[in-house]
Amino acid sequence: MLFPLEPNTPEFAVFTALNVELLYFLEHAIPARRFSRRSLSGSQMAQACWDNVTTKKKFQALNTALKNESEAMRRQLFETVRDNQDFAALFPLRRHALLAFVPRVLMLQLQALCYHLYNGTKDLAGVKAAAGGWDINDHFTDFMAVNGQVCRACGLEKVAPFRANVPDSEQWRADYDHFLCKSKYPIFAVHPKNLFPICRTCNQDAKKTKDMFFCSASGQLRHSFYPYTEGASELVGLDIELNDTSPKVRVRLESDDPVLKSKLDTWNDVFEIKNLVEGRYLSLAHHVADRIRPQSLPDLQAQVARALYPPTPASLGRTEGVFWDHKLYVALSAIDLNLIWSVVEFQEQEHGATGGDAILAGV
Ligand SMILES: [Zn+2]
Repeated sequence: MLFPLEPNTPEFAVFTALNVELLYFLEHAIPARRFSRRSLSGSQMAQACWDNVTTKKKFQALNTALKNESEAMRRQLFETVRDNQDFAALFPLRRHALLAFVPRVLMLQLQALCYHLYNGTKDLAGVKAAAGGWDINDHFTDFMAVNGQVCRACGLEKVAPFRANVPDSEQWRADYDHFLCKSKYPIFAVHPKNLFPICRTCNQDAKKTKDMFFCSASGQLRHSFYPYTEGASELVGLDIELNDTSPKVRVRLESDDPVLKSKLDTWNDVFEIKNLVEGRYLSLAHHVADRIRPQSLPDLQAQVARALYPPTPASLGRTEGVFWDHKLYVALSAIDLNLIWSVVEFQEQEHGATGGDAILAGV
């Protein structure tokens, strides 16, 4: 995460209640009973799950798969889920192989149920009613009110586009990210701390199913920022590599602390931060010409000096890219702007001449 989530980030009551039901079911499946209404709790949420044919069948299929295993296996699965509910405690422990003991047949049914609780159960009318009438759009609105509109993982995009003249309940909503991916950690598929919205690029393009605790490329354990208290914003900076024709922006991710460095590297690998930020400023001259629009070298110097004031927390939360643009101004303030100005001036004159030629040629 670039910025940690706010301490008062709301939990979605539907996830909280479904997570409780999952735990109840696993505990009461230890004696290998025939699947019945008593396999679920007496809560309104359990009744809503029971009343939905597909959800009930997913519970039943997992019950059957559990019955085919030993009691020791059933107990170990329940205890693993029960003993790892403290999401904050998972991060220092990095238990990436939490479910390695689960046989494949059982894992498939566990995944099928947990995926369905997230994809197919959370939006059922009875389920929403059982959680106090809240649906995920309400939670999304509340989440944005607390955490702002800008993606906390990257700071580069809004979590979702905001449309004027449209009520909150009908705004486009971002998908929720399973911070610990649901394929490897299905037991956290509806854990309320494991789910929050991030931008589409972070969720669907960059992160996908990457593991926060294990790097598949190196085959090594790695550390991850705990998203509710830790972020990279104090540990990153931009540098500008000067050359005559094409100055380049480079992201700096450094810490003398090996654990913090590992967290930075994980964040970068999972969300492709370096590639995305350096891509944003890939043509620094174009960025300066289009965004800063200097009229002269003194004008560029004055604009850079003025933009060194740090952005406010409010602006960081409402306008995408503000954090990184400020870092860019800090980097610009540390170099001789003569070279940047000369590249911008050269390119703009060249493009101006090309455009003029085209007009004269009647294109
Ligand atoms: Zn993002």
